[in-house]
Amino acid sequence: MTASVETTLRGPEAYSLSRRVIDEMEASGVWPTPLNFELWLHYLGDPEGPLGREIRRILAADEPFTEATADMLAAEYLPRGRLTEEIRDAGRVLDRELSSVADAISKAHRSQAAYGHTLDKAASSLDTAGDGEALQTIVTGLSSATRKVQRENETLEKKLDASTREVARLREHLEQVRRDAMTDALTNLANRKAFDEHLAACCEAAETKSEPLTLAVIDIDHFKRFNDTWGHQTGDQVLRYVASVIGRSARAPRVAARYGGEEFAMIFPGETPAQVATALEAIRKEIASRSLRRRSTNDDLGAVTISAGFAVQKPDECGSTLLERADAALYASKRAGRNRVTSAADLDQAA
Ligand code: C2E
Repeated sequence: MTASVETTLRGPEAYSLSRRVIDEMEASGVWPTPLNFELWLHYLGDPEGPLGREIRRILAADEPFTEATADMLAAEYLPRGRLTEEIRDAGRVLDRELSSVADAISKAHRSQAAYGHTLDKAASSLDTAGDGEALQTIVTGLSSATRKVQRENETLEKKLDASTREVARLREHLEQVRRDAMTDALTNLANRKAFDEHLAACCEAAETKSEPLTLAVIDIDHFKRFNDTWGHQTGDQVLRYVASVIGRSARAPRVAARYGGEEFAMIFPGETPAQVATALEAIRKEIASRSLRRRSTNDDLGAVTISAGFAVQKPDECGSTLLERADAALYASKRAGRNRVTSAADLDQAA
């Protein structure tokens, strides 16, 4: 959550902003789910920000505002805030653990020093101890001081064990938060943010190793028509189906992501154009081979098809230009009648 929205929500404008959020959602025909509410808070709190612009674009284009859309927007524009909050919480727990370990260590130091002092005293008393009774007193004192130090050491050990477990739990939790922030909630593929990071890393690695790198973009054909006919819930299932086929083909080092509404992207490090074309063809055929059913009514939804385009990285090329060429190949697939795979190299040759 941005600082300004966070501040507004605790200030004199808090309730009027919240009411405006509800009114605006109702006017736009958007359900007041907690996630939509959060998105709208940010939108109205910062209408000119990137989230505000994207929501306005979706509304102006009359695109449906589905749960998948909300998930996408949240993954794209809200995770940083969530992550920051989780990291702040983790910081607090870590702080607490560290100070309690520090306390236990300083207590152990003090008791070790006191024990050393007791030993010194006993040593000098031993020199002057005249009879058995005096010796008995010194030994009893030493034994009680030793037991005390042992007990305190045990307490310190337990404290360190507990803190080690707590820090390990925290590390696992943060790892999960990091994974969530990089994952598209509907399809479980990487989200756009994660994909952009992977692409930058893969481009760099490909140049260092002088290996080929291919980027593919995949789009579901006539998805809007499908959504309008069968409803958004079924549309979401189609997204999950296509994602599951793409995901199965994307074993490491390949990377697959949901890049936009019904658009997916894949990175193929170290593969030849022929290998990439074969993999994309296999995905295209597998998706088209299945006739889907609408779960609520068992209606036959028919087959879903995808169009794809791919481009091989040129020297010193990465990010947006590579994506533009893959996109151009995808649109060539669409223009040629959909349900096909086109290589950017074929377009270059045709030109
Ligand atoms: P899901 O519903 O969570 O299903 C996950 C996986 O469970 C499926 O992966 C499939 O392996 C298995 N499964 C679920 N329901 C059935 C079933 O009725 N028969 C059989 N033989 N297996 C089933 P898969 O196939 O890769 O699908 C991934 C996702 O794609 C599904 O997640 C669902 O969201 C969507 N999907 C796939 N086929 C259909 C369909 O015919 N209709 C609808 N509405 N959605 C589908």
